[in-house]
Amino acid sequence: MTSRLPELSEVQKKEISELFGEYVNLDKRERHYYNHDIGALPSLIKKVIGNTDPAAVVKIQTEEDAVKLLEFANRHRIPVVPRAGASSGYGGVIPTKGGIVADITSLNNIISIDPERQKAVVQSGIIWEKLERKLKENGLSVRAIPSSAPSSTVGGWLAQSGAGYGSYEFGWGYESMEKARVVLPTGEIREFSGPELKKLIGTMGTTGIITEITLEVQKFEARKAISASFPSASALRKAVETIKEKKIPLWSISFLNPEWADMKNKSPRKLHYGEIVDKNRPILPVSYVSTFMYPASRDVSGLKEAIESAGGTILPEEIAKYETDEWFKSMKVKRLGPSFIPAEILVPLEKMDRAFEEIGKKIKLPVLTEGMVISDGYVVLLCFMRHSERSLLFNTAFALSLSILKIAEENGGRAYSSGLFFASKRKSVFGERLAEIEALKKEIDPNGIMNPETLEGKGLLNAAVSMGSAFEPFGRIAGNMSGIGDVSFKDEKEIPAEVAELAYSCSQCGYCVSECDQYYGRGWESQSPRGKWFFIKEYLAGREKLDQRQTNTFLGCTTCQMCDSRCELDMPIEHAWMTMRGKLVGEEKKMTFPPFEIMAASLLKERNIWANYRKDRDKWIPEDIRVKMKDKAEYAYFAGCTASFVENDVAIGAVRMLDDAGVEFTSLLDKEACCGIPMLVAGRWDVFEKIMRMNVSNMKKKGVKTVITSCPACWLMWHTVYPQWAKKLGIEYGLEAKHYSEVLVDRLDVLKPKFKQPLDKVVAWHDSCHLGRAGGEIYEPPRELLKSIPGIQFRELEYNRERAHCCGSVVSLIAEPPVAYKLGDMRLQEALDVKADIIAALCPCCIFQFRVAAKENNLNIEAQDLGALVARSLGYSIPDSTSYTLESWVPFEKMISLMQPENMTDLMVELMPQMMAAMPAPLQAMMKMVKYVPGMDAMMKPMMPIMMPRLMPLVMPKVMHDMLKAVEKRVPMPDYMREQLPDLMPKAMDNLMPNMLPELIPLLTPRMIEYIKTH
Ligand SMILES: Cc1cc2nc3c(=O)[nH]c(=O)nc-3n(C[C@H](O)[C@H](O)[C@H](O)COP(=O)(O)OP(=O)(O)OC[C@H]3O[C@@H](n4cnc5c(N)ncnc54)[C@H](O)[C@@H]3O)c2cc1C
Ligand code: SF4
Ligand code: SF4
Repeated sequence: MTSRLPELSEVQKKEISELFGEYVNLDKRERHYYNHDIGALPSLIKKVIGNTDPAAVVKIQTEEDAVKLLEFANRHRIPVVPRAGASSGYGGVIPTKGGIVADITSLNNIISIDPERQKAVVQSGIIWEKLERKLKENGLSVRAIPSSAPSSTVGGWLAQSGAGYGSYEFGWGYESMEKARVVLPTGEIREFSGPELKKLIGTMGTTGIITEITLEVQKFEARKAISASFPSASALRKAVETIKEKKIPLWSISFLNPEWADMKNKSPRKLHYGEIVDKNRPILPVSYVSTFMYPASRDVSGLKEAIESAGGTILPEEIAKYETDEWFKSMKVKRLGPSFIPAEILVPLEKMDRAFEEIGKKIKLPVLTEGMVISDGYVVLLCFMRHSERSLLFNTAFALSLSILKIAEENGGRAYSSGLFFASKRKSVFGERLAEIEALKKEIDPNGIMNPETLEGKGLLNAAVSMGSAFEPFGRIAGNMSGIGDVSFKDEKEIPAEVAELAYSCSQCGYCVSECDQYYGRGWESQSPRGKWFFIKEYLAGREKLDQRQTNTFLGCTTCQMCDSRCELDMPIEHAWMTMRGKLVGEEKKMTFPPFEIMAASLLKERNIWANYRKDRDKWIPEDIRVKMKDKAEYAYFAGCTASFVENDVAIGAVRMLDDAGVEFTSLLDKEACCGIPMLVAGRWDVFEKIMRMNVSNMKKKGVKTVITSCPACWLMWHTVYPQWAKKLGIEYGLEAKHYSEVLVDRLDVLKPKFKQPLDKVVAWHDSCHLGRAGGEIYEPPRELLKSIPGIQFRELEYNRERAHCCGSVVSLIAEPPVAYKLGDMRLQEALDVKADIIAALCPCCIFQFRVAAKENNLNIEAQDLGALVARSLGYSIPDSTSYTLESWVPFEKMISLMQPENMTDLMVELMPQMMAAMPAPLQAMMKMVKYVPGMDAMMKPMMPIMMPRLMPLVMPKVMHDMLKAVEKRVPMPDYMREQLPDLMPKAMDNLMPNMLPELIPLLTPRMIEYIKTH
């Protein structure tokens, strides 16, 4: 038996780091994110379980990694907990004994798909949703699928076991699995199939790491659905019994009880920048609402009669469509929680209505229930009671889940799963398989390293559950008195009320994790939306601190809004991080990313982020276009900073197309200012407001009604964010915004005859987030424009439109360039996969990022702007700005690197003579005592954090001249930047130093002492 291991020894740390390099994480704070599953536990149960932080997290990349890890763990007797989507709630991914969490999610490839034999071999960490997509490309489909498909994995479903959509026809999930490859705790690899496979089912990672699974799949066929309402559970049961009797060939039967339907109707609407998105959401009848799904070609003619003869009513098609569109959003109702007390049971179909009746009689809290009918005659009932995990009553109310379990048992049913919490029920869950499973466990895991306490439970917890079951009526009385009314939130610590509410509502389902570029660029849970919600709850509970590191995590979000589109609760996630930026940087005066401060200074001085001159802003405008530009016009073209100063091809291409299409427009010329988005994401909302006011007022002076942009971020500002801010600030706005592609798509008949040059290239299209998912879902106009170029061979990327992956630009480039290079590489690989010569985009920042990433990753692909490609085909000579883009990045990259604490420390050490000389004389004398008075250096260490913040404002102005020289030495700069640095740097330093010092002082102090001693 292994004992609890909260930390690895130094020797173990060294060895595991050598084995897994960047794929192991030993950081204490990061490890904390891996200590839980989806369940919110009452404080009393948490106490019994104790600290569950693992000692290390390893991201398994290959089967060999799993072998290496388990050999290492077995040698050192370290517990190992496999973790995949972490969408389960039975404690299987909770490292109750510390040790190592083995994150399986990178084992996510398809090994083979055999359409003939209808088989697929996959790595275990593949997410169901991805598998289904890939199968569909081959004309196939899975047989059964859990309703957590956007986050749960194939291996996770075998290890946890369960039923889902399709289980009415195909049974439990494992019944469609044929074979599994498993790395046993000793590192040996074994294949399990036939009766042997049964020993693995539902064993929750206690028998080894499953690496590969062979699945039976089916031919893909579009499905149809009928939804019906039933006045009672018995009416629903009767309908299902008739359907079975008459052998009506359905694929899936699922349903909601009236409480669930009611809550679904009341759940908050999906918002996009405060506007309701799902305007036509249908209202469900408050009754038993069941959805029957079947392949379109099947004859289900008896279905309607079966429903109606049982007393059911067929619901309008829009409800069936809504229920099937939302089939993976089962936890949507949790927005009204904020917490849920779960109870998941299995009952025979014939006793289902009785179980409902008893739940209704015995449980006084409303019980929301979702059900799925399985082919073996059982029904899964997933029951939730809404509550608040922050209330003490949560502890007593939790007892009601045992009452529901008892009702199941009394009606011939059982717990759905055993696991950490219901290990005492494992005999009824596993039945006669239990003896075989225990024998296998004994054989293959003599040291008990694999997921200890998951199969057999935890002594005290088992005792508590057994006692709770024995005294269930008493627990029920207390539980029934533990209801709560509406839960309201208020601003707390630095967390605004609306953000706190979302954090507690989040179901931790993980749908938002794998597709978040902040997450997949770095690979660790803290960076995902799910991780950030977890952080907020932990912070409010006093178990985390909101320091600069966490501020950086909120700032590191690229604003791609992939999370919003994936969230099953329809939460406005990105907006919450935006709120946190304003709160933390604007109000709490935490530090933004340092390069943003240089940009802010440049913006306030010269109205652009590139540290260039305002007077040069409109130099890109071709003279023949300049003369045609009106002083006042209905339309204005707004170029933005990057197209004005770096990628002129974007701006020139845009005006050439507009002009050729006959659009008359004006421009703010050198009065144009940055759209301000960098300041919005930097949390410098004070600067954003100034810039926005300036732009709006200048645009109005030109009599403009519609602002045409080329840059999606500028479009987002002019179209959506400026009007909102204008309303907030009491400014009359009255402007609308369009992307040029929207304007030109209506004039293609004018443009098309003017094309002169064909483009004989394969061009892949990248959707930018700010025009697509996070903006106005403008997907088709740019495609139409691009496809209109003669000769072009158009290609879609694997992730396109709503699902398009972010380029990884701006915020990642500024925060951590290597992460941006990795993200760029991933997106460019998609283009290379479709054999593209060019990746085309319409966002100057995406193009910038792709050009830089292509160079960094040595990829042979061009990144070109849509407008520039079109304009060249129209016969214009548009300069290619690729090499200037790469040149422009160099000073920024060097500056970003210089702003890292270690590099800033080096710079300050170089300036030590000047810094010492700039100090007041008595302080200089005191410092020098370090050299002569023994023990003085030890005294200096605690004094530095007190002294430095007072000293720096005195010293900095005096050493600024030398500092600028030192910066210039490290950062090769164009003239315009060098000339402006004396203005920009002091302003940036004033804002940065108060927050940067705490990071610098520990690095600087020893080197300062060393300097004094040696000089
Ligand atoms: C919104 C929502 C809907 C859900 N719907 C369903 C449903 O329809 N049906 C259903 O049955 N469940 C459902 N669940 C529960 C959960 O999604 C399933 O149990 C799912 O199968 C878990 O998969 P996972 O990849 O998230 O595994 P995890 O939660 O990561 O792990 C589950 C268990 O399996 C073990 N494990 C995972 N991968 C491996 C591996 N490769 N090797 C060895 N052990 C491993 C872990 O140690 C753990 O004990 C739902 C959950 C949510 C949040
Ligand atoms: S907006 Fe994009 S980067 Fe930000 S948290 Fe959501 S998915 Fe991640
Ligand atoms: S934010 Fe939404 S998608 Fe992400 S874990 Fe929470 S509920 Fe799930």
